[in-house]
Amino acid sequence: MSRGTDALAAARREVAACGRRMLDDGLVLGTAGNVSVRVGELVAVSPSGMAYDRIEPADVAVVDLAGNRVDGPHPPSSETPMHLGVYATTGATAVVHHHGLHSAAVSTVLDELPALHYYVLQLGGPVRVARYATYGTPELARSVHAALQGRTAALMQNHGAVAHGDTLDQAYDRARLLEWLCALHVTATGMGTPRVLTGDELAAVARRRTEVPA
Ligand code: 13P
Ligand code: ZN
Repeated sequence: MSRGTDALAAARREVAACGRRMLDDGLVLGTAGNVSVRVGELVAVSPSGMAYDRIEPADVAVVDLAGNRVDGPHPPSSETPMHLGVYATTGATAVVHHHGLHSAAVSTVLDELPALHYYVLQLGGPVRVARYATYGTPELARSVHAALQGRTAALMQNHGAVAHGDTLDQAYDRARLLEWLCALHVTATGMGTPRVLTGDELAAVARRRTEVPA
């Protein structure tokens, strides 16, 4: 097997395992959400509408950067245009989309998730909510693209969350962090009006992180 074929097989295994992890972590219900990993000019992406606990590596679809299926027995995720949009415009090699309850809830109320915690810096700053569009459409891909400018994650209005990274583990950690930040927001606003970190306070954390990694 060539190195490229090995890497693609590994990516398909990673995608299958990540789907089970999303299910176990309660980030998705049923067949919601999707995961992809880029390997050169190809992308391994979860199959559309298939229960995560049934997805084996061989079920994972492989598409080219234009979205044509080149391998796999099932159609790729309906959100493939959104995943490909991220790959076309960033150096990311992995994308995770979930329907975490807190992310979905916050996406119905806010246009931007304010900085209640300095962890927002791990996502590039306060997280924007991408304007609503029907799932799987190029319009949703465009709206997510706009919301991701300067960020590694975005909320999707009345829908869920998306994050990207240099590895699938990094994209997944960011997607899970966004769910935690949304849970923090829901919890804090239930108790009162939360204090939001100022720009100066966030800048001080960013400076400190370069001196003393958190
Ligand atoms: P797929 O099963 O087609 O990936 O769709 C799930 C989803 O979350 C759509 O936004
Ligand atoms: Zn979705």
